[in-house]
Amino acid sequence: AEVSMETIVALCKRRGFIFQSSEIYGGLNGFFDYGPLGVELKKNIRDCWWNDMVRRREDIVGIESSIIMHPKVWEASGHVAGFTDPLVDCKVSKQRFRADQLFFSPVVIDGKTAGYVSALESENTAAELQAAAETFKRKKALQGALAPVEPRDMTEARPEEIPQIPSPATGEPGSLTPPRAFNMMFETYVGALRDASAVAYLRPETAQGMFVDFKNVVDTGRVKLPFGIAQTGKSFRNEITPRNFIFRSREFEQMEMEYFIHEDADWEKCHKEWIEWCRRWLISIGLPESHLSLYDHPKAKLAFYSRGTTDIMYKYPFGVQELWGIAARGAYDLTQHANASGKPQEIFDEATRKKFVPHVIEPAVGVDRIFLAVLCSAYAEEQVADEKGKAETRTVLRLSPRIAPVKVAVLPLLKNKEHLVARAQELYKKVKRKYTAFYDESGAIGRRYRRQDEIGTPWCVTIDFDTIEKDGTFTLRDRDTMQQKRISEPELFAMLDEQVW
Ligand code: ATP
Repeated sequence: AEVSMETIVALCKRRGFIFQSSEIYGGLNGFFDYGPLGVELKKNIRDCWWNDMVRRREDIVGIESSIIMHPKVWEASGHVAGFTDPLVDCKVSKQRFRADQLFFSPVVIDGKTAGYVSALESENTAAELQAAAETFKRKKALQGALAPVEPRDMTEARPEEIPQIPSPATGEPGSLTPPRAFNMMFETYVGALRDASAVAYLRPETAQGMFVDFKNVVDTGRVKLPFGIAQTGKSFRNEITPRNFIFRSREFEQMEMEYFIHEDADWEKCHKEWIEWCRRWLISIGLPESHLSLYDHPKAKLAFYSRGTTDIMYKYPFGVQELWGIAARGAYDLTQHANASGKPQEIFDEATRKKFVPHVIEPAVGVDRIFLAVLCSAYAEEQVADEKGKAETRTVLRLSPRIAPVKVAVLPLLKNKEHLVARAQELYKKVKRKYTAFYDESGAIGRRYRRQDEIGTPWCVTIDFDTIEKDGTFTLRDRDTMQQKRISEPELFAMLDEQVW
């Protein structure tokens, strides 16, 4: 069975993965804090990406650009004019919605459409819609048989098709303002003056940093086409309807890479290769291949400069949604910046003795979306036998050892035996120099294993009497199989070295 979002949110809070931001003040919608385990998991995802994308390759270099950049960057990139979502206001509930995420279900009474109920895509259940339709019928004193409501995407509906819209929660009939463009960039002021000349933006993507620093990297590095520039960092979008936990938030972290290629290069081939690289990478950190799919944006809906965009989709509990976008952007961005700044953004081609603006393939992904996908796929509840053979449910996070927040738990069998505790402490400190480790001496050993299962620790090491009295080996217990075997210290480190990369 697929895990529910409620279960994931509850686990995150209970075990310290994610908290609501500013929770003691009631929270702030669209903002989250990562707790002690969450920050480790997130860092591991980012580090794996950085190692595989930058350090282990010869053709990609990293940068870290500032979050606030010259406002002209966002004019040239098109964000000031066009980074908008369609916003509608509900005049009754005073709520704001993204028009393209609103669905309307026709309320059909005796074969005729009597009105509509609205729902936020993937947030309202069929039962809630049905209840709203019934309220609608009662309020309007309509007679006749109510047909089951069928959600219909009304993104392109004509205004007369959405006359009266009771909210699913209250059943109150309402109406929406026509959609209007809402710019999602957060504004701030740089310096002491608070006038138009001081307006700046928190970046809504990290990508522009790579374009604006393109010349600096080319002139100072030893890069030769094709090559990439990558960075990870926070981005900010004033999303109209942040939802689905950390899936869509207002402050999030991106990992982006711009891969520059020759203007005559086979961009389609390169695009395909990057899609496959990203897919393989997601599998390498533990996402199940069965939950991944590709979505090619229809050519007609692409921005004029875009040659093709493919999204890697993930099957979340709330539906199949975009995880990673891989876009072929031609020479658009560099050309825009060349025109706006008056500084050519070209590369010299030795073969043809000509200068040209390289084209680019851009894989752009959100760390928080990977985090959520990873937790949802790793979560399992299983029926197992406890130490006395009694059936119990264990919660286990089957996280890949690559990203698990804690790699090893070191446990002395008994806490009141000084030599067991001393040896366990010694090993714990040694493991901790290189890998995240956790020391736990409280409670029955079975309980301690369960606590580690729930946070995804792949291995537990137990120091027992044989460790001290015999050959120094200890018990290694595997999270997924729950099998135990004896292992020596060098064997433990060899295994960690192989599995955690
Ligand atoms: P969406 O259509 O879901 O709003 P997008 O197509 O606008 O996303 P991009 O601009 O392509 O997203 O951003 C690249 C990646 O950054 C996305 O694939 C996603 O993983 C991540 N991302 C974008 N917006 C958010 C957000 N509000 N919260 C968390 N991650 C986000």
